[in-house]
Amino acid sequence: MHRKMMRDLMKQDKQTLRRLKATLSQLIVLPSIYTYQQAISWHPAHSGTLGRILTDNSRDAFSSGQATGEVLVHYLHKRFDHRKLADWQPSFRKIIRLAADDNNSDDEELPHWQQDTWFKPHEAIRALEARQLVLAGNWESDIITKVKQIAIHQLQGMPRKEAEQAIAELLRVNMNRAELIVTTETTYAYNRGRLSSFHANDVDYVRFSAVMDARTSPQCRSRHGLIMGMDDPALPGNTPPLHGRCRSLLTPIYSSYQPELITPQFLDWSNVNPIPKGWRTG
Ligand SMILES: [Zn+2]
Repeated sequence: MHRKMMRDLMKQDKQTLRRLKATLSQLIVLPSIYTYQQAISWHPAHSGTLGRILTDNSRDAFSSGQATGEVLVHYLHKRFDHRKLADWQPSFRKIIRLAADDNNSDDEELPHWQQDTWFKPHEAIRALEARQLVLAGNWESDIITKVKQIAIHQLQGMPRKEAEQAIAELLRVNMNRAELIVTTETTYAYNRGRLSSFHANDVDYVRFSAVMDARTSPQCRSRHGLIMGMDDPALPGNTPPLHGRCRSLLTPIYSSYQPELITPQFLDWSNVNPIPKGWRTG
């Protein structure tokens, strides 16, 4: 099931990247950027397009996460049908507050969310949109800065051929950067969609599940299989992605169905690998 979900997410990434690529090459059309004036008029005319593509992608990924969350929860109810849930109550109050994890962040621009943002779908979507607009805005302004630089160099006598090469390189670098943003942000929104659905269904624990292969990061490898309470303040700081291109997921557990899983060994997060400095998880 994990592999199939990863394939679906990758398909979504590819579609988003195709749209971004089409937009980006419309924005930087080789023969149209010859004057500084043309270069600076580029930004206001197209500003926001990239942000819209990224926010659409985030919304879709959040919904896929919610839908998959529902399927997983349904599956658990079916599988453990024989364990009666007549008196079942979640082991903590439904409205729980998650501490935002911003200790390891040096990115001042990303907004700070309310502690339980990710459990409330409407707030979560708004938070995702704001996040994507910041990321897209940074990306766009970096591109326009570089385009202006190339235009200035051309004014100062840079040969046309060289300017064209510089633009081609700019496209290549920014598509690579876009690819990293899209893959990582899809996982970001997707896992938060799952959390939102787990919360709505009174799930009380989640298990960290990494794709274990040669590419698994040390931080995800060291967390694989560990279990955390949904009300644990460390949850936002351990919700994937924990680094660029992270493929890890959180899966739901009801302690009343599988009490045997809730052991001190699985609940012990004291030996996990630290998350890269500056990586923003909350
Ligand atoms: Zn990872």
